[in-house]
Amino acid sequence: DVRVRFPPSPTGNLHVGNVRSALFNWAFARHYGGSFVLRIEDTDTARNTEGSLEGLIAALRWLGLDWDEGPDKEGPHGPYIQSERGDIYADGVTKLLAGGHAYRCFCTREEIDARQQAQGKSGPSGYDGFCRELTAGQVAEKQAAGIPAVIRMRIPDGSIDFLDLVRGPVHFDAEHVPDYVIVRADGSPLYTLVNPVDDALMEITHVLRGEDLLSSTPRQIVMYRALAEIGVGPGRTPKFGHLPTVLGEGNRRLSKRDKGSGLQEYQLAGYLPEGLLNYLALLGWAIADDRDVFGMDEMVQAFDIRRVNANPARFDPKKCEAINAAHIRLLDPADLTARLTPYLIDAGVLAEPPEPEQLELLSRATPLVQERINTLSESVALLDFLFLDDDQITIADDAGLKPDALPVLEAAESAITGLDQFDHDQIEIALRTALIDGLGMKPRKAFGPVRAAISGKRISPPLFESMELLGRESSLSRIGRAKA
Ligand code: GLU
Repeated sequence: DVRVRFPPSPTGNLHVGNVRSALFNWAFARHYGGSFVLRIEDTDTARNTEGSLEGLIAALRWLGLDWDEGPDKEGPHGPYIQSERGDIYADGVTKLLAGGHAYRCFCTREEIDARQQAQGKSGPSGYDGFCRELTAGQVAEKQAAGIPAVIRMRIPDGSIDFLDLVRGPVHFDAEHVPDYVIVRADGSPLYTLVNPVDDALMEITHVLRGEDLLSSTPRQIVMYRALAEIGVGPGRTPKFGHLPTVLGEGNRRLSKRDKGSGLQEYQLAGYLPEGLLNYLALLGWAIADDRDVFGMDEMVQAFDIRRVNANPARFDPKKCEAINAAHIRLLDPADLTARLTPYLIDAGVLAEPPEPEQLELLSRATPLVQERINTLSESVALLDFLFLDDDQITIADDAGLKPDALPVLEAAESAITGLDQFDHDQIEIALRTALIDGLGMKPRKAFGPVRAAISGKRISPPLFESMELLGRESSLSRIGRAKA
């Protein structure tokens, strides 16, 4: 049975690279009918912020990446929050110490550095194994003297090889893998311990994660082997697949501080979760050579971790937006109306809760923007004029309403006053007849002033449809005001 995990630290704003990891794990689990486990890695207390667990869960729900086991969905391997698993780690450490896989180390940083300098080595490097061979008596003595100790993993000599599902064969020499610290002097466990211990106990079969974690994989493999020997977990080492680095501007890894790296930006801008996920899927994977736009059900069906590309993937904000736009075009209009509503409420265009007439108008206006917006929030500037009272329309300076537009507005006014049916076809015919045939104007010159009067803007949804939605009375009132 396939079991994969997504183990974020509870930060309020997920990095899109982490979302990509979550997505690939989720798609992998769903493809094989396996389990997707959400585990909260909150042992690094300094990085945890109040309320961020709720925020994290809300963000994953918004994305629609549902999990089978997690903090709010108990399963056979809980608890799924590391800060609640202290006893489990303490037990694991006791067994690792007893089995000789780990040892107490009393060296201070200064002592380690001094020994390195004496040997003519420089720079930060690993640990020299000084405390490896302390006898039980020596350890007891130092403990009795109150000397603080960390606990280190003992890395056996030799090489550590594994077959990465994305990168193929990977080889590390043990001599470059230091005896790393798994428990701090204050007794608190580190990521180096809790992550592989939990993967073992949660019976994780495949670890799919960012390439930045590749260097911790050999240490973790050593840990899995030790855990197997001491009987913690099912005794298998999971398979690893390291997903390609996500690059931002200037060929640098997209960092937390870079614009466009946090999930919240996309939520605020009004990306559709399926649009964002579709784009993130393309960071290392493709569904077909000739197709970029697809739904998550299609991804689940087609996903194959062995077809993920190991080369770094560039995050292209333009393409991300274009993929999102494609998903907006695909929505059922009623669905799009529902998704636009919260953005229009937030912007103050709609009342909270919206009045029934506002919702009715919005559902008629939705088709006018469906082909024109790349994100949901772009609808605000396009649609707000429809929801304003006529006397709230202010005409923007760049709307191009010049004094010489007066005859145009007058002709438009009389053209639509007498229409028997106020629909967009009739409005268009009447305005073309009056302004283009009648006044001999070019279409852009002719309709610009009318658009400015109706919407206050230079750019609006289609003019005739907008006038139909506003109705005759309101259209005439707006043209009248623009004349004044
Ligand atoms: N909590 C770690 C992180 O978010 C997990 C890394 C892993 O997938 O093993 O970086």
